[in-house]
Amino acid sequence: MRKGCLVVVSGPSGAGKGTICSAFLERASGIAYSVSATTRSPRRGEVDGRDYYFVDEESFKKMIDGDELLEWAEVYGNYYGTPLKKIQEKIAEGKDILLEIDTQGAMQVKKRFPNGVFVFILPPSLAELQRRIRGRGTEGERDIEKRLAASEGEIKMASDYRYVIVNDKLDDAVSSLSAIVEAEHCRASRNQDIINEIVNN
Ligand code: 5GP
Repeated sequence: MRKGCLVVVSGPSGAGKGTICSAFLERASGIAYSVSATTRSPRRGEVDGRDYYFVDEESFKKMIDGDELLEWAEVYGNYYGTPLKKIQEKIAEGKDILLEIDTQGAMQVKKRFPNGVFVFILPPSLAELQRRIRGRGTEGERDIEKRLAASEGEIKMASDYRYVIVNDKLDDAVSSLSAIVEAEHCRASRNQDIINEIVNN
C-alpha cells in the first residue's frame, strides 16, 4: 500500500491559500480536508463542520487538555487547532490529507511528521497582499491591520517549507500544488512496499 501524504499549506492572510486549496480539492480525488477547530466567529457563508468546528474557548481548552489536537496556536487573537483523530484515521488508511494551518502549527506538525509535504503560498508582493485582503471585505479594519502586521514575519518562515508557490494566477497556483502532490506520490520512500513486492515476485 502506498503511504498517504500529509499536505500542509500555509501562507499569510490574503495570499489566497483557501481558494487554492478549495480548487485543488475539487480537482483532486481521494484527498481529505482536515477541518480545524477555532474560537473565531463564523464569517458569512461559513458552515460549522465544513469550514471549521466553531467552538468556545472552554471547549477548545478541553480539546487541548484531552490531547485531541495534533497542533494548536493562537493566530490573530483566536485559537485554531487540528483535530488529531481524523489525521490518524487517514494515515492508517494510507490516504492523503490536506491541512491549511498557520506557520506556528505547521512547525509543530513538522516535528511530529517530518515527511509531510510543507507548502507555503506567497503573494506576488506585499502591496498585492494588502489589496487582496482589503478587497475581500471579510474582516473589519482592526482585524485587517492585525493580519497585515503579521504577514512579513509569516513570509520569512517560507524558507522552512519544502515548497513555495507564488499565487499570481490562481489556475497556475492550483496546477503547481497538484504537481507537488503528484511528485510526492512518486517518492521512492513512499513506494517501498511496491518495490519490495516486485522484487519478491
Ligand atoms: P482564518 O481566520 O482566515 O480562517 O484563518 C486564520 C489563520 O489561521 C490562517 O493562517 C489559517 O491557515 C490558520 N489556521 C486555520 N486552521 C488552523 C489550525 O487548525 N491550526 C493552526 N495552527 N492554524 C490554523
